[in-house]
Amino acid sequence: MTRLPLIRAVGTHAEVGRQIGAACASALRRSITDTQHSLPAGVSWDDLRRQTLPYLAATEQALPWVVAEFQGAAEGAGIDFLDLFVLACEELLHVPPLPEGRCTDFAVAPEISANGHVLLGHNNDLSASAEQDLALVEWAVEDQPRFVSVGVGGLFISIGFNAAGISLTGNEVHPNDDRPGVPRLLIVREILAARTYEEALKAALRPDRASSYNNLIATEDGCIVNVEGSATDYALIPAQEGWTVHSNHYVSPKMQRYERYPQWTPQSVRRYERACELMRRRPGPVTHQMLRNYLADHSTEPRSICYHGNGRKTVFSALIDLNERRLDLAVGNPCMSTYEPYRLA
Ligand SMILES: [Zn+2]
Repeated sequence: MTRLPLIRAVGTHAEVGRQIGAACASALRRSITDTQHSLPAGVSWDDLRRQTLPYLAATEQALPWVVAEFQGAAEGAGIDFLDLFVLACEELLHVPPLPEGRCTDFAVAPEISANGHVLLGHNNDLSASAEQDLALVEWAVEDQPRFVSVGVGGLFISIGFNAAGISLTGNEVHPNDDRPGVPRLLIVREILAARTYEEALKAALRPDRASSYNNLIATEDGCIVNVEGSATDYALIPAQEGWTVHSNHYVSPKMQRYERYPQWTPQSVRRYERACELMRRRPGPVTHQMLRNYLADHSTEPRSICYHGNGRKTVFSALIDLNERRLDLAVGNPCMSTYEPYRLA
C-alpha cells in the first residue's frame, strides 16, 4: 500500500505553481526525460519545443493564469519553462501503436446511489513507472474555488473536484482533427476552476481547443455528462437511468468518424461493455463498496477494468463522493491496494 502525500498549494497562480513545482521537481524532471526518450520518429526535442509555440501562444491568449502556474512550476522545479510546457501538449506526442489499458469511468446519480449522493469511480492506467510520479494536490488559488487533483507531477491533472461541487474525471480519446490551440490537458485545469456546470461545459468546449478528452463532468446536484470532444466537434452523453460509464473510444455515433486509431478501439470496447454490464446487473442501490468491486473487476482479462499489463497497469483508482467532497484514493491496482480517504474541507 502506498499513500500519496498531500501537497497543499496556496496563493497566486504563480505561487501555487512554484509550490507544486518544488514538491514535484523529480517527477517533472523524470517526465521530461521519459518524453525525450520516446519522441515521435524523426522529431528532435528542439523540433518539439518549436512546435509547442503556437499552443503556448493560444494558451497565453486564453488562459494566461495557467501559463503563470507553469512558469511558477518551472521556477520551483528548477527546469526550463518550455521543456515543461512541451509535456502539456499531448497533441504533439502521439506515438502509435497505442499501449493497451487506459482509463475506465463510472458515474452514478443520486437517484440510484444508496446514500443519495453523486458517486464517481475512475481507474487510471499508465506506464507502471508513472505510479511513483503521482501527486495529490489541494489547490487554493486566490480567485478560484479550491480543488483537489490527482495526476503525474501535480500539474498534469487526470481527475479532480472543487469546492463548488464540480468534478472532472474521464478518459483519453484519440481524435484525428488535432490542431494548434489550447492543449486539452490545460482545459482540464480550466474545468476545475468552474463554479457552475455551464462554466465547466464552456471550458470543455472552448472553440480554440487543440483537442479534447472525453471530459466527464458532474455536479453535486446530479448533473452528469460525458463531453465526448475532438478539436472541432463534440457530442454530449448524459447519464441515463442514473448512470453512465466510459472508456477510451468514442461512443457517440456522431463522433466515431474522429477516431484516429479505430484498430485500437476493441480493447476499450470490451471494458466499456463490461462496465455497462456491471451497472445493469447491479444488485441494488449503488454503494461505495459496489463501485470498488467494479473497479477491481478482472473478468475481461487481459483487457480488464483493473489492468495488469506488460509494463502498463492501473496506477491509481479513485472513488469520489461529490456531495461529501470526499476522495478515496488507491495507488496501484485497486484489487490489491487500500483506498485512503481525503476530504476537501
Ligand atoms: Zn487487479
